[in-house]
Amino acid sequence: MAPALSVRIKGGGVAAACCQTLLTQANVAFRREPAPRPKVPAVMLSPATQSLLTDVFGRRDLLDGLHLVRRRMVTWGSGDLVALPHSAVVVSEEELLLRLAAATPAGEVIGEGDGSSDGLTATWTIQASGSMSGAAPLRDFGSRPATAAQVKLTAAADSQACSMEAVTDGWLFLVPSGGETAWLLAAGGPVETLLSQSRQISPQIDRVIANGGSFPSHPRIAESLCAAGDGGAPGFLACGSAAIAFDPLCGDGTGHAVREAILACAIARAQQLQTAPDDLLWEYRLRLWSGFKRHLEHCHEFYSTGGSSDWWKAQCAAIEEGLRWMATQRSPIPLGRYRLNGFSLERSAT
Ligand SMILES: Cc1cc2nc3c(=O)[nH]c(=O)nc-3n(C[C@H](O)[C@H](O)[C@H](O)COP(=O)(O)OP(=O)(O)OC[C@H]3O[C@@H](n4cnc5c(N)ncnc54)[C@H](O)[C@@H]3O)c2cc1C
Repeated sequence: MAPALSVRIKGGGVAAACCQTLLTQANVAFRREPAPRPKVPAVMLSPATQSLLTDVFGRRDLLDGLHLVRRRMVTWGSGDLVALPHSAVVVSEEELLLRLAAATPAGEVIGEGDGSSDGLTATWTIQASGSMSGAAPLRDFGSRPATAAQVKLTAAADSQACSMEAVTDGWLFLVPSGGETAWLLAAGGPVETLLSQSRQISPQIDRVIANGGSFPSHPRIAESLCAAGDGGAPGFLACGSAAIAFDPLCGDGTGHAVREAILACAIARAQQLQTAPDDLLWEYRLRLWSGFKRHLEHCHEFYSTGGSSDWWKAQCAAIEEGLRWMATQRSPIPLGRYRLNGFSLERSAT
């Protein structure tokens, strides 16, 4: 008989919240170890991510009342302004986590305390925070700090449109958060310098209200995404930004964090079904590599067309290095041996 399953979830973000809910729904005992860290001031959730979250938490009203973004306005490279339809919601990470916590059912929680010497014998550790002990080192492709600033919009600004603009030395991303305010993300240089180079976003901003901190925004991936348990040591699965961090300009980090949590929990639970873990772990790596490769390709489209200054060339070179590194990753099995059925993994028919 397979041993009773217990999972240590390390992290305080969206991925960890999803793991807690999914394990609770599957009656798996867990221990959650969050860590305080700065919160991202505003995240925009695509329709696909909204559905994933409402499915995982089983609450249609989970994201009700959030500010809607209906248009995406893009000025990129030498091109003119392009207006595209959009259907996203905007929420601060703090509010999103509060909503997820309120929607999380009570589960079987093991132990209390700080998690360092609690005697918990977990079958798996799900590492859902890159800044906590036990996280695998990340392989960085570039270095691109983005600063966030809360801004007041001018009366003429469209509060239901987000705006992306490539400028000479970087990019700006304006995300309206409701009323007269918005969050401005800037990568490549100080906000004031990039705004002085801006044609599209600068006229929408009345003034900067507050500084919202600085966050890394370049793509990165954990050197080790997962490992089987060994000699009593628990198996290890990295998910969320402890596994892959996405460039917020062209990535859907929250959606990926939810998908990775679904997969990580499905793999941890597959042990209950006495499935050999090796193939499943390769499936996990392959799925995450494939998502990261798609993200690098998407980034390449943006950074190869954004501008011709040294900054743009350096970003492009770092992404190309990532694509070359991805091409060296090898697996003994092909992708797709398993498929997700709801929140469970099962062997594909072929
Ligand atoms: C500036 C910024 C804007 C973003 N905008 C969007 C968006 O619009 N839509 C979207 O889907 N995703 C966005 N993301 C990505 C999204 O926040 C993460 O992918 C998601 O929260 C990962 O969840 P997690 O559970 O893995 O969280 P965690 O691993 O706990 O981390 C959550 C976020 O906080 C950051 N973080 C963690 N620790 C620190 C620290 N010590 N210092 C600074 N930052 C830290 C991480 O880089 C990560 O982005 C953005 C990320 C950043 C940094």
